[in-house]
Amino acid sequence: MRLILLGPPGSGKGTQAQRLVHKHGIVQLSTGEMLRAAVAAGTPIGLQAKEIMANGGLVPDEVVVGIIADRIDEPDAKKGFILDGFPRTVPQATALDELLKKKHLKLDAVVELRVNESALLDRVEKRAEETRARGEEVRLDDTPEVLTKRLAQYRSLTEPLIHYYSERRKLLTVDGMMTIEHVTREINRILGAIGALEPKADESAKSAAAKTAKPARLAAKPARKAAGKASKAAEKASKGTKKTAKPAGKATRGPSKAKAAKKRVKKAAKAGSARKGAKAANKPAKKLTKKRAKR
Ligand code: AMP
Repeated sequence: MRLILLGPPGSGKGTQAQRLVHKHGIVQLSTGEMLRAAVAAGTPIGLQAKEIMANGGLVPDEVVVGIIADRIDEPDAKKGFILDGFPRTVPQATALDELLKKKHLKLDAVVELRVNESALLDRVEKRAEETRARGEEVRLDDTPEVLTKRLAQYRSLTEPLIHYYSERRKLLTVDGMMTIEHVTREINRILGAIGALEPKADESAKSAAAKTAKPARLAAKPARKAAGKASKAAEKASKGTKKTAKPAGKATRGPSKAKAAKKRVKKAAKAGSARKGAKAANKPAKKLTKKRAKR
């Protein structure tokens, strides 16, 4: 599974990435972590990034793209990865597309953690407090002043990625204001609905045993139920996608008649593909029912 976690600083990307790593046995690739390690080690990249990071700026695209290109090739990333903090700009996203295409790898989904900006300062302050309590060094950029800059940066350079991935039908939006546990559950639920989760070896063995044990007539029922659930989840997920397709800050100007008509056509087209998405989510469950019936 290959995922991108998208969200402003303090939205919980790192926390959720770690939980996904734990559950699915894939690696977390955090450009922020890698850059901090480079700064600590005093490498040429670290020396270049140090000032920029301390001021809440963005390290040049070619630097982070280079880091990710090398990291993806390492053996532990073969099974899958979660990109945390990358891409952060549209040029980074297009570079990633090219990179994955060259390596014949597919991106499964982009999970956007949507949070209220007003909560972010509290969260970042809490993160700094917890780090201090563990006796570790607090990040230089976890201060209210730098956070304000990082947020402005996110709005202008990273938020356009919501539209970028929504257009490519990769975006799944999750309410990041729920508890950590709820957010994890929701992410896993939507990833399951789009078929991105590979069953663990012992789980697939269990389900194979269940398949052989149950008569086909009985087995068909839960499969239908699962199909319904998956289609509902996909519908919900694509509704979320639809919502995020609107670029933030552009909704205040009243659209002209032509624009409004265009919007209606777009909306109808999107509704069509939302249904397609739900249908696609239905497929695996239907296939399962057929297989079970054969047996
Ligand atoms: P993070 O840990 O993701 O909040 O990143 C910390 C800092 O590292 C950011 O504020 C940037 O200065 C730098 N950084 C991390 N990822 C990227 C990226 N993809 N592009 C540019 N700069 C980055």
